[in-house]
Amino acid sequence: MTDGPGEGAGATSRDLAPGLMTEQLTDDWGFYIRSARQLEKFRSAFQMVEVHDSVPFGRLFRLDGHFMTSERDEFFYHENLVHVPAFAHPRPERALVIGGGDGGSAEELLKHPSIASVTLVEIDGAVVEIAREYLGSVHGGALDDPRLTLAIGDGFAYVRNSSERFDLIVLDLTDPGGPSELLYTPDFYRACAARLDPAGAMTLHIASPIAHPERIRATLTGLRAAFPLVTPYLTSIPLYGGMWMMACASASLDPAGLSAQEIDRRIAERRVGSLQYYNGDVHRAALALPNFVRLIVR
Ligand code: SAM
Repeated sequence: MTDGPGEGAGATSRDLAPGLMTEQLTDDWGFYIRSARQLEKFRSAFQMVEVHDSVPFGRLFRLDGHFMTSERDEFFYHENLVHVPAFAHPRPERALVIGGGDGGSAEELLKHPSIASVTLVEIDGAVVEIAREYLGSVHGGALDDPRLTLAIGDGFAYVRNSSERFDLIVLDLTDPGGPSELLYTPDFYRACAARLDPAGAMTLHIASPIAHPERIRATLTGLRAAFPLVTPYLTSIPLYGGMWMMACASASLDPAGLSAQEIDRRIAERRVGSLQYYNGDVHRAALALPNFVRLIVR
């Protein structure tokens, strides 16, 4: 989610009124969700952390006043972020998640039977703690899966100091600002590209085509400086205000190279059940961009 006028990371609240959790997409546009009950609010070493119950989205959490994940719509985000590249990959075995301390991306990765290891590098241990305590329906126990290795630390430092190779890298980060700022740079993307196998891919969310066209252009320019093949795709995330874009970046993996039938065949073959959003038609639909979006991403 975005920062409001003159407020960088560390802002506590820009709520319209107490209990009306307000998200600003731009200086002139935002929306609110009413908190039914505040379960946690504290400042961690990196950011303000809040957990609330709400009527429309169930349990959700915010970082620095920005909505991160809700139990009601988390699958819109996590299934699209993970499965578009994961099903395009012939046999993903090793994955790296940067950020994603709520465990939602790890849970989707671990649904693929070929996945032998997921390394999750989250800078803020407090996020993992609140996920364990309050967000079981988001991570589904993935944070304690024997195939998962949890590292608390900066994702850029981890990638820079690593010699491992991965099939998939998932950037499940807060928006540019604060601890994630440097992870939206070509230097970081290049460092990630060096950790990927030639058939591997990196995926990330790149914001709203309606509220943030300039940010999408800048992110795609950075990705194209580090990867020969960058595939932007479109989904919708109610908690973020609607239309939201993601991108898959790779040396060779092309999610557009697979038909809906082939995706559905792979879902069946891998026996990946419990998908609430993603299927072959959705995969194709995500890649079918409206004309105004084509103008933004070209
Ligand atoms: N879906 C959410 C969104 O779109 O904003 C992201 C959720 S995920 C919980 C974001 C995580 O990225 C946060 O827990 C945050 O602490 C983590 N993060 C931010 N900067 C980081 C860094 N430099 N290294 C590792 N994790 C980082």
